[in-house]
Amino acid sequence: MAEKAKKSGIEKLIEMQDIADKEPLSIEVTTECNSRCSHCFARAGLKEYSGLAAETAHQIMKEGFALGYRNLHITGGEPFLWPGLFELIGSALNTGYESIFCNTNGKLLTEKNCSRARAFGKSLTLSVSLQGYPKLHDAVRGSGSWEKTSKGIKTAVEAGLDLFVFTSAGKSLIKSLPRYTEFIFNEFKGIMGLTFIQMIRTAGDKPDLSDELLEPEDFMEMVRALSLLSLFGYPVDILENPLAAVVSHIMGMDWLPHTPPLHRPGKLVVLADKNVTLSHSSRESLGIYKEGRLKQFLEAAMRGKAVAPDSKICPNCRHIEKCRKFGMLNPSEWFRDRGKGAPFCMKTLDKCMRLIEKKYS
Ligand code: SF4
Repeated sequence: MAEKAKKSGIEKLIEMQDIADKEPLSIEVTTECNSRCSHCFARAGLKEYSGLAAETAHQIMKEGFALGYRNLHITGGEPFLWPGLFELIGSALNTGYESIFCNTNGKLLTEKNCSRARAFGKSLTLSVSLQGYPKLHDAVRGSGSWEKTSKGIKTAVEAGLDLFVFTSAGKSLIKSLPRYTEFIFNEFKGIMGLTFIQMIRTAGDKPDLSDELLEPEDFMEMVRALSLLSLFGYPVDILENPLAAVVSHIMGMDWLPHTPPLHRPGKLVVLADKNVTLSHSSRESLGIYKEGRLKQFLEAAMRGKAVAPDSKICPNCRHIEKCRKFGMLNPSEWFRDRGKGAPFCMKTLDKCMRLIEKKYS
């Protein structure tokens, strides 16, 4: 009996390491930022910023490695404002992490910072967020922001850094996605790709972004445009959104890269205030990080309800087969639309099916 219990413990550990190996461990090192974006979920509702002590961030990174994590994601706020950033990246690579992904608003991608970052070679990848065209970007992030960020992107690419542009796709950008995509790849030659993020609501709905949330028709339009752009060789995708794969499949335009769901077993985020969550946009805490407790959070994250296939709504939904096939295991999260009636995924797939059925009837 004791032998059996021991074996099952080892099996559990191996399973945990296998899952962690494929997923990123995210550390939000600070919520301090030199932009004031109205849609920022990292800062929404915060009265003052928090930052992790360097020793805490290193401890989390090391515990993560021992649990099997090999991909480290560093985010903020603005990570380049956090004094220990380069030391943390260097130490993570020395520890054995294979890749580091760092989100930034690009304003601090100076020649000096890019040259320091270049020393990490291809192990470091950056993502820089742009809000849309210069006018929209400055309207959301403050006058002069586009110029600073644009300069940062160009400096980073010239320094040989791997860099993706991330753009939140709100209603006002949907109609011009192809033009915007062409604009970005012309303006920033040498970037690795352009990733769109479906606009979401922020904690407490402050500020109210309802007008920018996508309707099912907007989502379908986004998938159609990006599928075509993919077909023509543009490296575009939609971040952590398997609904896009289901929609593109129904439309017969299955060219868009498939991406995993936002919440999945093994993915873990330690926020700057030490709350541990399943995603950066989530305020549902699994608890507060303390030294030695990461394993406990990983176990909870692997077995929690949020990552298990839904057993209440999906089994009664006519789209379940298609959804499960493309990794859509749970209904869309509350923050993707106004949260009334059926979940966003069901409304979108109903519309999409009706459109296809009408076309071929
Ligand atoms: S509720 Fe959403 S995720 Fe679940 S089967 Fe229906 S459309 Fe798919």
